[in-house]
Amino acid sequence: MTSFPRRNGPGRLLPALIAMLVAMGSAIAAGADNDADVARIVDHDVAGLVGYYKALHAAPELSRQEAQTSAQLAAELRAAGYEVTEHIGKYVVPTYKGYGLVGILRNGPGPTLLIRADMDALPVAEKTGLPYASTKRSKNEAGVDVPVMHACGHDIHVTSLVGVARVMAKLKDRWSGTLVLLGQPAEETIDGAGAMLRDGLYDRIPKPDAALALHDMSLTPAGTVGLTPGYALATSTQMDVLVRGVGGHGSQPQDSKDPIVLAANIIMQLQTVVSREISPFDQAVLTVGTIHGGTKRNIIPEEVKLELNLRAYKDEVRQHMIEAVARISRAAALGAGMPEDRLPIVSVLENEYAPALRNDPALTERLRPVFERVLGAGNVRDVPPIMASEDFGRFGLEGKIPVLMFWVGGIAAETLAEAKRTGIPVPSNHSPLFAPVPEPTIRTGIVAMSAAALEVLHK
Ligand SMILES: [Zn+2]
Ligand SMILES: [Zn+2]
Repeated sequence: MTSFPRRNGPGRLLPALIAMLVAMGSAIAAGADNDADVARIVDHDVAGLVGYYKALHAAPELSRQEAQTSAQLAAELRAAGYEVTEHIGKYVVPTYKGYGLVGILRNGPGPTLLIRADMDALPVAEKTGLPYASTKRSKNEAGVDVPVMHACGHDIHVTSLVGVARVMAKLKDRWSGTLVLLGQPAEETIDGAGAMLRDGLYDRIPKPDAALALHDMSLTPAGTVGLTPGYALATSTQMDVLVRGVGGHGSQPQDSKDPIVLAANIIMQLQTVVSREISPFDQAVLTVGTIHGGTKRNIIPEEVKLELNLRAYKDEVRQHMIEAVARISRAAALGAGMPEDRLPIVSVLENEYAPALRNDPALTERLRPVFERVLGAGNVRDVPPIMASEDFGRFGLEGKIPVLMFWVGGIAAETLAEAKRTGIPVPSNHSPLFAPVPEPTIRTGIVAMSAAALEVLHK
């Protein structure tokens, strides 16, 4: 967009204003032209893409195991004319091949835009009863056989990315710049984005000027887009507390230090972190998700392991909670008379961390009218922030690159109306019954994302 001329006499202001209005008018006309062409391409492609989606839905892969999904996505991007690099993000664990990939379309001078789709599925047994439902089982990293389902709709994201790849390749004469389409593994374990960055992602591709992603959701109807300017998703931090004791016979507690009682005490004290130490104006959640210890009822064990998950928006709140967990664990152990060398071992799993996702307000407001134009004003909604987490924000390098993740409604409007009437909620993301309606959800994803890309990369 041209900037307004700064030093003009009154005589020159009117022609300048007219020129600007003409330029704006032609930009709007170009936008409308593009919209018609995007719609035409999507109309042509969508049936095939729904087929692609259903095949992907029936063959989900767990986090860090996205071998087929990433290979198929790479093939689609190559077929659409993108220069593809695979296996980015190798070293999460030494044997891990790394299934991150990028497809680049260099199309003259201008900004670089990154668009991400996450590819992994969840250990959930699908119960939708759909003809393309997953019956797949896989071994998880612990070697346990588990069911697998695309219960978060990442198959919608991958399919939409393929659609966007084709639209942007076919409309190359309408934009200028560099488009990077990225397939991210291991979002559900929130370490895939970090692994790609640590593996030199931004040395392998032009550093983006903006990054976009979409996520489907069960709370808004298919055909709509939801926007959350500013903080949208919370930080997620994983902590382990290894509570150590001095083992012994269950009948002789005086000769041991019981880590089970100590662990129980620590868990109860941890409940005061959010309620007593964090301002009520700051969002925070601290959950002790697992507790494991002991082998037999008459043995006082040597240790008990607690696995914690912490959520917050502000980094100082996150930091405070981490320190509080360490302080409370240590103090409780000292209070129980635990010797120095048997104090709890508190650790933060640094690789499994997602920063809070903060949607760049300027980028959000720049794209809002674009979404309203292509979907209709009533189909663009504000969605409040939630305490779930995503590692997409990592691609923004802590605020250096503006990022936006927008929500794409995935449920038929009639289904949502019926849920409102009966009070029985529609199955949400991660539910075994989560079932986005493929065609309108994928169509909306492609149309909205392509329009956003054409805006960011406009000539
Ligand atoms: Zn998820
Ligand atoms: Zn997800």
